[in-house]
Amino acid sequence: MGARIGVLALQGDISEHIEAFKKAVRAFGSEDSVSVIPVRRPDEVLLLDALAIPGGESTTISRLIEKNNLYTPLVEFEGGIFATCAGMVVMARGVDDPRVHPLGLMDYKVIRNAFGRQRESFEADISITGLDHPFHAVFIRAPVAVHPGNGIKVLGTIPEGIIALEQDRFMALSFHPELGRDPRLHIRFLKNCGLL
Ligand code: GLN
Repeated sequence: MGARIGVLALQGDISEHIEAFKKAVRAFGSEDSVSVIPVRRPDEVLLLDALAIPGGESTTISRLIEKNNLYTPLVEFEGGIFATCAGMVVMARGVDDPRVHPLGLMDYKVIRNAFGRQRESFEADISITGLDHPFHAVFIRAPVAVHPGNGIKVLGTIPEGIIALEQDRFMALSFHPELGRDPRLHIRFLKNCGLL
Protein backbone atom coordinates (compact mmCIF):
# COMPACT_ATOMS: atom_id res chain seq x y z
CA MET A 1 0.00 0.00 0.00
CA GLY A 2 1.25 3.49 -0.84
CA ALA A 3 1.63 6.39 1.56
CA ARG A 4 -1.46 8.25 2.71
CA ILE A 5 -1.69 11.95 3.47
CA GLY A 6 -4.90 13.01 5.20
CA VAL A 7 -6.48 16.43 5.51
CA LEU A 8 -8.61 16.83 8.64
CA ALA A 9 -11.99 17.55 7.05
CA LEU A 10 -14.02 18.98 9.92
CA GLN A 11 -14.06 22.67 8.93
CA GLY A 12 -11.87 25.12 7.01
CA ASP A 13 -9.94 25.18 3.75
CA ILE A 14 -9.86 21.43 3.23
CA SER A 15 -10.00 21.19 -0.57
CA GLU A 16 -7.21 23.77 -0.90
CA HIS A 17 -4.88 21.59 1.20
CA ILE A 18 -5.81 18.49 -0.77
CA GLU A 19 -4.98 20.28 -4.02
CA ALA A 20 -1.72 21.72 -2.62
CA PHE A 21 -0.53 18.28 -1.46
CA LYS A 22 -1.53 16.70 -4.78
CA LYS A 23 0.46 19.38 -6.58
CA ALA A 24 3.49 18.74 -4.35
CA VAL A 25 3.24 14.98 -4.95
CA ARG A 26 2.85 15.45 -8.73
CA ALA A 27 5.93 17.70 -8.80
CA PHE A 28 7.91 14.62 -7.70
CA GLY A 29 6.07 12.21 -10.02
CA SER A 30 4.85 10.30 -6.94
CA GLU A 31 1.10 10.40 -7.59
CA ASP A 32 0.93 6.60 -8.00
CA SER A 33 2.51 5.91 -4.60
CA VAL A 34 1.08 8.73 -2.44
CA SER A 35 -2.64 9.41 -2.01
CA VAL A 36 -4.23 12.52 -0.48
CA ILE A 37 -7.60 12.07 1.23
CA PRO A 38 -10.02 13.94 3.52
CA VAL A 39 -10.38 12.31 6.97
CA ARG A 40 -13.06 12.70 9.65
CA ARG A 41 -12.98 9.52 11.73
CA PRO A 42 -10.53 8.01 14.25
CA ASP A 43 -10.13 4.81 12.21
CA GLU A 44 -9.15 6.88 9.16
CA VAL A 45 -6.48 8.77 11.13
CA LEU A 46 -4.85 5.50 12.19
CA LEU A 47 -4.10 4.62 8.56
CA LEU A 48 -2.27 7.86 7.72
CA ASP A 49 1.41 8.67 7.31
CA ALA A 50 0.82 12.41 7.56
CA LEU A 51 -2.03 14.77 8.34
CA ALA A 52 -2.83 18.43 7.65
CA ILE A 53 -4.92 20.46 10.08
CA PRO A 54 -6.20 23.30 7.91
CA GLY A 55 -6.99 26.93 8.49
CA GLY A 56 -10.54 27.77 9.49
CA GLU A 57 -11.93 28.54 12.92
CA SER A 58 -9.95 26.95 15.73
CA THR A 59 -12.83 27.08 18.25
CA THR A 60 -14.99 25.13 15.78
CA ILE A 61 -12.24 22.69 14.77
CA SER A 62 -11.43 22.06 18.45
CA ARG A 63 -15.09 21.41 19.27
CA LEU A 64 -15.48 19.04 16.31
CA ILE A 65 -12.28 17.17 17.24
CA GLU A 66 -13.87 16.36 20.61
CA LYS A 67 -17.29 15.62 19.13
CA ASN A 68 -15.82 13.17 16.60
CA ASN A 69 -13.71 11.38 19.25
CA LEU A 70 -10.53 12.50 17.52
CA TYR A 71 -8.70 14.14 20.43
CA THR A 72 -6.83 11.06 21.68
CA PRO A 73 -6.19 9.57 18.20
CA LEU A 74 -4.64 12.89 17.15
CA VAL A 75 -2.51 13.20 20.29
CA GLU A 76 -1.28 9.62 19.78
CA PHE A 77 -0.84 9.93 15.99
CA GLU A 78 2.65 8.82 14.99
CA GLY A 79 2.87 10.49 11.57
CA GLY A 80 3.73 14.05 10.59
CA ILE A 81 1.32 16.94 11.10
CA PHE A 82 1.20 20.08 8.93
CA ALA A 83 -0.86 22.75 10.69
CA THR A 84 -1.84 26.08 9.18
CA CYS A 85 -3.46 29.06 10.90
CA ALA A 86 -6.35 27.59 12.95
CA GLY A 87 -4.36 24.33 12.78
CA MET A 88 -1.40 26.11 14.39
CA VAL A 89 -3.72 27.20 17.22
CA VAL A 90 -4.90 23.61 17.74
CA MET A 91 -1.32 22.20 17.83
CA ALA A 92 -0.07 24.49 20.63
CA ARG A 93 0.55 23.62 24.28
CA GLY A 94 -1.48 26.67 25.33
CA VAL A 95 -3.97 29.11 23.77
CA ASP A 96 -5.28 32.47 24.99
CA ASP A 97 -8.87 31.29 24.52
CA PRO A 98 -10.48 28.72 26.83
CA ARG A 99 -12.85 27.56 24.09
CA VAL A 100 -9.93 25.86 22.35
CA HIS A 101 -8.68 22.59 23.88
CA PRO A 102 -5.24 22.42 22.23
CA LEU A 103 -3.60 19.12 21.35
CA GLY A 104 -0.34 20.21 23.04
CA LEU A 105 1.73 18.43 20.39
CA MET A 106 4.07 21.38 19.79
CA ASP A 107 5.82 23.33 22.50
CA TYR A 108 4.68 26.95 22.07
CA LYS A 109 1.83 29.15 23.23
CA VAL A 110 -0.41 30.91 20.77
CA ILE A 111 -2.26 34.21 20.60
CA ARG A 112 -5.33 34.02 18.38
CA ASN A 113 -6.23 36.87 16.01
CA ALA A 114 -2.96 38.56 16.90
CA PHE A 115 -3.07 41.31 14.28
CA GLY A 116 -6.19 43.18 15.43
CA ARG A 117 -9.13 44.37 13.36
CA GLN A 118 -7.26 46.88 11.20
CA ARG A 119 -5.00 44.21 9.82
CA GLU A 120 -7.30 41.20 9.80
CA SER A 121 -5.95 40.02 6.44
CA PHE A 122 -2.75 40.88 4.65
CA GLU A 123 -0.08 39.40 2.42
CA ALA A 124 3.66 39.66 2.89
CA ASP A 125 6.86 38.20 1.48
CA ILE A 126 8.56 36.56 4.41
CA SER A 127 11.83 34.77 4.78
CA ILE A 128 11.66 31.22 6.04
CA THR A 129 14.74 29.36 7.25
CA GLY A 130 15.79 26.84 4.62
CA LEU A 131 13.97 28.46 1.68
CA ASP A 132 16.28 30.22 -0.76
CA HIS A 133 13.87 33.06 -1.58
CA PRO A 134 10.98 34.68 0.34
CA PHE A 135 7.60 32.99 0.61
CA HIS A 136 4.52 35.00 -0.38
CA ALA A 137 2.31 34.45 2.66
CA VAL A 138 -1.42 35.10 3.03
CA PHE A 139 -2.47 35.92 6.60
CA ILE A 140 -6.17 35.81 7.55
CA ARG A 141 -7.07 36.61 11.18
CA ALA A 142 -3.78 34.97 11.92
CA PRO A 143 -2.33 33.79 15.22
CA VAL A 144 1.26 34.21 16.37
CA ALA A 145 3.28 31.84 18.51
CA VAL A 146 5.11 32.92 21.68
CA HIS A 147 7.32 31.22 24.28
CA PRO A 148 8.67 28.39 22.09
CA GLY A 149 10.21 25.53 24.05
CA ASN A 150 13.66 24.03 23.53
CA GLY A 151 12.59 21.44 20.97
CA ILE A 152 11.10 24.04 18.64
CA LYS A 153 12.90 25.34 15.57
CA VAL A 154 11.62 28.83 14.73
CA LEU A 155 11.49 29.15 10.92
CA GLY A 156 10.00 32.61 10.54
CA THR A 157 9.31 35.72 12.59
CA ILE A 158 7.72 39.08 11.83
CA PRO A 159 7.54 42.06 14.21
CA GLU A 160 4.29 40.79 15.78
CA GLY A 161 5.70 37.37 16.62
CA ILE A 162 6.62 33.90 15.41
CA ILE A 163 4.77 32.76 12.31
CA ALA A 164 6.47 29.49 11.32
CA LEU A 165 7.79 26.65 13.48
CA GLU A 166 9.02 23.09 13.18
CA GLN A 167 9.34 20.38 15.81
CA ASP A 168 10.45 16.93 14.65
CA ARG A 169 7.74 15.72 12.26
CA PHE A 170 5.43 18.68 12.90
CA MET A 171 5.23 22.04 11.11
CA ALA A 172 2.98 24.94 12.15
CA LEU A 173 2.41 28.11 10.11
CA SER A 174 0.24 31.11 10.97
CA PHE A 175 -0.40 31.83 7.27
CA HIS A 176 -1.98 29.83 4.44
CA PRO A 177 0.45 28.20 1.97
CA GLU A 178 -2.53 26.21 0.64
CA LEU A 179 -4.06 29.43 -0.73
CA GLY A 180 -1.07 30.40 -2.86
CA ARG A 181 0.71 28.76 -5.76
CA ASP A 182 3.98 28.05 -3.98
CA PRO A 183 4.26 24.36 -2.97
CA ARG A 184 7.65 24.68 -1.24
CA LEU A 185 6.37 24.32 2.33
CA HIS A 186 4.09 21.38 1.54
CA ILE A 187 7.08 19.77 -0.20
CA ARG A 188 9.39 20.48 2.71
CA PHE A 189 6.93 18.95 5.17
CA LEU A 190 6.52 15.80 3.04
CA LYS A 191 10.29 15.50 2.76
CA ASN A 192 10.63 15.87 6.54
CA CYS A 193 8.19 12.96 6.84
CA GLY A 194 10.17 10.87 4.34
CA LEU A 195 7.22 10.80 1.93
CA LEU A 196 8.97 12.50 -1.01
N1 GLN B 1 -8.38 33.26 13.77
C1 GLN B 1 -8.71 31.92 13.44
C2 GLN B 1 -8.70 31.02 14.65
O1 GLN B 1 -8.08 31.29 15.65
C3 GLN B 1 -7.78 31.34 12.41
C4 GLN B 1 -8.04 31.96 11.09
C5 GLN B 1 -7.63 31.11 9.94
O2 GLN B 1 -7.41 29.92 10.04
N2 GLN B 1 -7.60 31.75 8.81
O3 GLN B 1 -9.32 30.02 14.56
